Amino acid sequence: MMARRERLLGPNNPTFYDDPVHFVRGEGVWLFDADGRRYLDAYNNVPHVGHCHPAVVEAISRQAGQLNTHSRYLHDGVLDYAERLLGTFHRSLSTVLFTCTGSEANDVALRMARSITGKQGIIVTDFTYHGNTTAVMELATLLPREDGFSSHIRTIPAPDSYHLEPGEVDERDMAARVLAHLDAAIASLEDAGHGVAGILICPIFANEGFPNLPPGFVDRIAKAVRRAGGVVIADEVQPGFGRTGGAMWGHQYVGMLPDIITMGKPMGNGHPIGGVVTTQDIMHAFRSKNLYFNTFGSNPVSCAAGMAVLDVIENEGLLQNAADVGAYAKEKLTQLSKKFGFLGDVRGAGLFFGVEFIAPGETRKADKKLAKRAVNLMRENGVIMGLIGRKENLFKIRPPMPFSRSNADHLDEVMRHVFSRL
Ligand code: PMP
Repeated sequence: MMARRERLLGPNNPTFYDDPVHFVRGEGVWLFDADGRRYLDAYNNVPHVGHCHPAVVEAISRQAGQLNTHSRYLHDGVLDYAERLLGTFHRSLSTVLFTCTGSEANDVALRMARSITGKQGIIVTDFTYHGNTTAVMELATLLPREDGFSSHIRTIPAPDSYHLEPGEVDERDMAARVLAHLDAAIASLEDAGHGVAGILICPIFANEGFPNLPPGFVDRIAKAVRRAGGVVIADEVQPGFGRTGGAMWGHQYVGMLPDIITMGKPMGNGHPIGGVVTTQDIMHAFRSKNLYFNTFGSNPVSCAAGMAVLDVIENEGLLQNAADVGAYAKEKLTQLSKKFGFLGDVRGAGLFFGVEFIAPGETRKADKKLAKRAVNLMRENGVIMGLIGRKENLFKIRPPMPFSRSNADHLDEVMRHVFSRL
């Protein structure tokens, strides 16, 4: 199957794990492979309300059986969904443009930022990924690629609360250093004549390894960018839709109000839909100068899927569940980290948390090899999870949102078994 994949889809086409998994079915937090083996899904945020949730499946098939067409016809479904989605944001963020992916959403957000400011400069962190279009890929520092950075892009250090620089005592020092780099990036863009169109960041710095952030840090970033005349784009592809527990959006969780918000992955529970939420001023500035349409973005079936996801989040109390079960599971992991010398910092929020693998006896030295062995052993033992962070030594635990306490107990048992074998 791997050979066929390479022949048909090309080389260097990533799969998870040394021994890739071949899933044929999903249900709730469970995945089943071609041999009928069951795996606990502690990783996937796309099936946000659970694999094949019956309410989402029913909404998709009902709408697909009635009408699915181009987004340039009138349809109530898109307006009802837009209204419902916008109801979860601050009242100033009252308009939305739909796309099919997170990449497209970030691509449009960059165009909006440039449209409203008349500037070109964009700031991102130095360890990130925001998607795969040409403009967005230019910002990615996380994946290897053949083209370099354009002259209008500046990076600031990704916050890392665990691996501090010499002389730093805690995350407040780390935050001050990142803010100083931000000032320098702004000055450099102005000196080069690009000016500052905006910053594009994930509010919880998920791909960067979801560091602990001092209160008000992200808001200070936003204020500095606005002082320079730029706008703040929050990439909510990972923290959005209640992932951090309690708050619906990552920017609400960290206490910052963005100008533009982009979203994707969990939005349609696997059905491809993304979006860009912004203010009336920004949407008007963009749409008055550009005729933007997206054939598939906001088609009736996508909107039915998106609406069903919002219904399930509400009806099943999934924000509260993420907060409760997340805290419970993270505490269990904290207990494990005290038992095993190769486990370092445990951090994260809601159902998005993890632990650093470190070389025993050494101060916080990342151990990527051990982390990789651990994640492969977890897969062998029937639990799906991933690695993340600038040193790729951090367990990334980010299950579908209906993850229960008994799922957390199962996860804990398998981790205990795997850690004792390492
Ligand atoms: N932004 C972030 C933070 C992401 O992690 C990703 C995908 N991993 C994207 C954007 C791109 O989304 P998509 O793959 O739907 O284009």
